[in-house]
Amino acid sequence: MPSPADSACPECGGAGYLVEQVLGRAARARRCTCQAACPRCGESGYTLVPSAGSTVAQVCSCRHLDERIAVFNQIGIPPAIAKASFETFKGWSPDHARAKTVAEDFARKFRKDAPTKGFLLYGRPGAGKTHLLVAALRWLALEKGIAGKYVEFMLLLSDIRAGFSENRSHMDILKALLFVPVLAIDELGKERGTEWERSMLDELISRRFNSGLATLFATNYFLEERENPVKEQPGTRYNTRSPDFARDAEAMTLPKRVGDRIYSRLNEMCTFVKLDPGHDLRKDRAGAGDFWKA
Ligand SMILES: [Zn+2]
Ligand SMILES: [Zn+2]
Repeated sequence: MPSPADSACPECGGAGYLVEQVLGRAARARRCTCQAACPRCGESGYTLVPSAGSTVAQVCSCRHLDERIAVFNQIGIPPAIAKASFETFKGWSPDHARAKTVAEDFARKFRKDAPTKGFLLYGRPGAGKTHLLVAALRWLALEKGIAGKYVEFMLLLSDIRAGFSENRSHMDILKALLFVPVLAIDELGKERGTEWERSMLDELISRRFNSGLATLFATNYFLEERENPVKEQPGTRYNTRSPDFARDAEAMTLPKRVGDRIYSRLNEMCTFVKLDPGHDLRKDRAGAGDFWKA
């Protein structure tokens, strides 16, 4: 809740909240100490404002802050990327500038009462695709109070499988994701691509699409084989002239990974944006340190 009065806070820069990064736990936000005792309402949660000759009680903006923090804490942001925001996103190429603009436009124009087209970021790992997914969810939660969820698709599938052994149906797991205003699905296409896996994905995204709800995606797979400059399978040496290479390169595209039906659904739901590092950023970093320091 930035206002000129508290913009001087060195802790939160006037935002009123801080995001904590704790190993092994989803990202959590908390009220900054500058907001601990609300100067406007004296902790009652209400302010008295003049209205037509008398005074009426109005919900203080600090109550919205608590609600927004609670919404943020439900997203499920992995600890390694807890601090990801539009402000901490570092771009160094036209791809980065374009992708950030798409993600920011999505967040700023998002309305709960009108269908909004999502976005899908694709390219090799290390360019900041996850960062932008999380930044959009964070901004919507903390600035607008709009709920979102973040899932890695493979982990979601594991949760569904684990649920079966506890006699829970796939719907028990998916239902939390069907109606959330914004859902971000990361690592799309990394799954094996079995019929069952595809049916889970199809059910989830088709229901959301039919309800007019926005879904965001990130994938390490390219849309066409010619876009993928090198196959970076550890321990594999590809002969780019061999028929095997052509077949494998085709199999490594997003349409092949998810199937034509889901791919065309993704086209209806999303703006596709390429975000490729050009070279692998993670190799330039000392481990995953960047996000932990951000
Ligand atoms: Zn503060
Ligand atoms: Zn207050």
